[in-house]
Amino acid sequence: MRMPLTRPLPLSRLLPLPGMGGPAYTPFMPSRCPWCLEPLSIGERRATSCPHCERPLRGPDGEPRELDLRYELIEARQRARVREVLQWGVPAIAVIAVAASLIHIGGVLIAPFVALVHLVVLRVHVVREARRYLGPTRRLFTRWAARFAFLWLGLPGYAAMAVPLAGIVSGVATFVVLTEVVHVYTAWSLARERSRQPLLAWEQVLMATLAAVTIVVIVGIIVGGVVVGWSAATLIDWLGN
Ligand SMILES: [Zn+2]
Repeated sequence: MRMPLTRPLPLSRLLPLPGMGGPAYTPFMPSRCPWCLEPLSIGERRATSCPHCERPLRGPDGEPRELDLRYELIEARQRARVREVLQWGVPAIAVIAVAASLIHIGGVLIAPFVALVHLVVLRVHVVREARRYLGPTRRLFTRWAARFAFLWLGLPGYAAMAVPLAGIVSGVATFVVLTEVVHVYTAWSLARERSRQPLLAWEQVLMATLAAVTIVVIVGIIVGGVVVGWSAATLIDWLGN
């Protein structure tokens, strides 16, 4: 015989306090998928992955992280900030390029300053939020990818602004390319961090190559400067005697 539906619940079920004979402790079993929030049947709850979205329900990856829940928002906000930076930055760079061409070769000296301001704006305004969610190696790589891009593309590109007219094209192109490099690499790293994918071999090879080339060039410039200075001093000595 079936129980009448109106049967009151025993007090111990309503107040499951310890020592009151409440229901025995049962391990936490989600009745919904923590990822897609679809309800799960008892059989589905025991599965290793959700039948609706196929994401893991157990193991170290079974728990959504902050990045999993906020990824779309972070990604959209970064894209919006890139649009904003391009909107303001392109006309500003065009004006700076005209000013740089007016002071001729002196305009070259503006390049490091423009590059530094641009790098700080990208770092502080555009990619800071995404970088917080990257692992330590990815955070290091996105930082150095930006520095190398600014060193090898930014400095010559912005220095070329000293050239009349063509300098405007060079300045604007440099600004857009550097903004996109920093944005795309960070967004791509964030997507891979979210799907728990490891760093790729080419990322590590490219970063190591750029670091090695940069060190060799810097050492070369220092050694070259010392050699030229020493030769000049020797030559002046020799001519003086
Ligand atoms: Zn699901």
